[in-house]
Amino acid sequence: TLGYYLSTSLVAILIGLLLVNWIQPGIVNNQPAKDLIGLSTSTAQALSSVEGRGAGDFAGIFLRLVPTNVVRSAGEGDLLGLIFFALLFAYFLSRMPKEKSRQQIAFWQASYEVMLKITDLVMRFAPIGIFGLVALTLSNSGLGAAKPLLAFFVTVILALFFHAFVFLPGFIYFITKKNPLPHYRAMADALLTAFSTSSSAATLPRTIECLVEKSKVSRKVTSFVIPLGATVNMDGTALYECVAAIFIAQCYGLDLSLANQFLIVLTALLTSIGVAGIPSASLVAIVLILSVIGLPAEGVGLILVVDRILDMFRTSVNVFSDSCGAVIIAHSEGEKNLLSKTGG
Ligand code: ASP
Repeated sequence: TLGYYLSTSLVAILIGLLLVNWIQPGIVNNQPAKDLIGLSTSTAQALSSVEGRGAGDFAGIFLRLVPTNVVRSAGEGDLLGLIFFALLFAYFLSRMPKEKSRQQIAFWQASYEVMLKITDLVMRFAPIGIFGLVALTLSNSGLGAAKPLLAFFVTVILALFFHAFVFLPGFIYFITKKNPLPHYRAMADALLTAFSTSSSAATLPRTIECLVEKSKVSRKVTSFVIPLGATVNMDGTALYECVAAIFIAQCYGLDLSLANQFLIVLTALLTSIGVAGIPSASLVAIVLILSVIGLPAEGVGLILVVDRILDMFRTSVNVFSDSCGAVIIAHSEGEKNLLSKTGG
């Protein structure tokens, strides 16, 4: 299951990476779209901080990944090290005997819920913030700002569609040799719920229901793969994070080195595992990726305008990928009636 989750997320990120480099939504008429969308940091400033961060070579990235002192990493905002530590910590916490880990898990669970509440409070102000940002940008540069944003929107949608309608069904067919089309019909309810709530966590019960009742995946496999997938496997989110970070870099006029692009891919993969299945959760991860690269966080402001609609699409892809994972794992467990109308 973990192999499926990591590999499909990685493929999703690479699809996004290819398309955003090909379409280059952040470049308008051969010029970075920075001024059009009213970013205040100059290219020189952005460039110097990116270089200061120095992703360095590939070995350097892996060295930065492992913190020598996790408290210092937290203090200095070295998020890459912090994420790595958090993943390691959680992994071993989950492997401890229940009586030893119970209190820790309850503590982190409660902290997580408190953070969600705080985020919720902050996000209540988002509409005012977005209004201010959009009004300011439009008054400065007129409708010109719409062009790069539209190109960004189209890039994300194209990449998501390719992942959901070419790669994932191809993967199902490759592994199970079954026609993947009935799976779309079976999952329609869950996909619509994901689309309208923008939350894979809220869609969870519906996803399980569709898989068990319509795609004929056993409850045993579904109840293991899906709750795990709803938190860990977010292909649409991972893809979006990568496209958004590179789009923002393009807007600043930065030509990202291979090492920096690799850093984005890696951070998108790691953060997509940690992102919560709630609306707009990716935005937090994008701020994080920008800071890892050394780009100013103001870049996120500009994608806020289209974020909500893209959230609907990427959440559906998140849910659909989880469901394909369940079909593939069920097949590997020898289940026979998958994607058929009878039996179950
Ligand atoms: N809304 C997404 C989900 O719930 C997370 C995100 O990408 O913001 O799956």
